[in-house]
Amino acid sequence: MRPWNFSAGPSALPLEVLQQAAAEMTDWHGCGMSVMEMSHRGRQFTQIRDEAEADLRELLAVPDDYEVLFMQGGATAENAIVPLNLIARGGSGKADYILSGIWSNKSHKEAQRYGDIAIAASSGTEQVLDGIAQAPWTWFPGADTWTLRPDASYLHLCSNETIGGVEFSDWPDMAALGAPDVPLVVDASSHFLSRAIDFSRAAMVYAGAQKNAGPAGVTVVIVRKDLLGHALPVCPSAFDYANVAGADSMFNTPPTYAIYIAGLVFKWLKKQGGVAAIEAANAAKARALYSYLDTSDFYLSPVHAASRSRMNAPFFLRDETLNGDFLAEADAAGLMQLKGHKSVGGMRASIYNAVPLEGVQALISYMQDFERRHG
Ligand SMILES: *Cc1c(COP(=O)(O)O)cnc(C)c1O
Repeated sequence: MRPWNFSAGPSALPLEVLQQAAAEMTDWHGCGMSVMEMSHRGRQFTQIRDEAEADLRELLAVPDDYEVLFMQGGATAENAIVPLNLIARGGSGKADYILSGIWSNKSHKEAQRYGDIAIAASSGTEQVLDGIAQAPWTWFPGADTWTLRPDASYLHLCSNETIGGVEFSDWPDMAALGAPDVPLVVDASSHFLSRAIDFSRAAMVYAGAQKNAGPAGVTVVIVRKDLLGHALPVCPSAFDYANVAGADSMFNTPPTYAIYIAGLVFKWLKKQGGVAAIEAANAAKARALYSYLDTSDFYLSPVHAASRSRMNAPFFLRDETLNGDFLAEADAAGLMQLKGHKSVGGMRASIYNAVPLEGVQALISYMQDFERRHG
């Protein structure tokens, strides 16, 4: 059996997807070519791309007035591409950002090069919630606390902070917040396809594929059509959403192999029963892990209970001198890549779609065993 892989990204892919890619590596569907060797404009790759888009639209029920784009540069490039495309829309040159952890802070910092950027809310302070003093970036600022500018060209948030393990699923109705003309733009990289998306709330969602949707190299952008066509004159042509949409994501050579693998992941997800089924499985996985963390005196979950990510679960050993032993013995037990991000420390279990309940149960059993031996 392969070890269980808890990497935060690039991360576990479904074994069936890897096996199918291996079987098709040198000859895709009898055409005599690897997907890596075929023209992106040829009949075969056009079919691969079209099926990937159609399957993704079906999985997420993407409305017809949204474009699905396959881009490059990762979510980090989108930190610039978003303002380059959107900040001129409406004429104010303003955009608002919610700061909830490392990734949203990076987005905010990059955007400052392009306009008048304000912080609508931040969780960068200690906060007492449910009687517990939460450290900075371990909770999510509720929508009722946001300070919005109704003339902003967009509001940006990161709905799953991969490093801090903070998830925000209750995306607000901007009209109800008094900002009906402000499109909500969401970096959903690390929980994309783990749960349903309400497109009546979000005008744009983007995600680097390598967390939960495929390999590194392709960024999925789903954007409402009325947001296109306002790019700043300095926006690189290949990053202008209108150009990318107008060319069906073939404005330049797309990352063909990454799109192919992501397409196989989409087909695998459909076979699992679609997003509703995987969302239920993800909820069960997270419940199992967090309820164990909450009953243990040996481990500790730092994140406010209401904001804990279903995908990325940071945790600490109360006795941090045992960290090295915990990781070495986990590796030996076939549980890989549990080390926490260097900025947070401790451990982090990323339990994306491709890690089944069985993998989470193996982790919990190992943690119980380690606690028995060292507690
Ligand atoms: C990983 C990640 C990024 C950065 O992705 P790159 O592909 O490295 O640019 C941005 N936002 C979130 C939420 C992420 O998880």
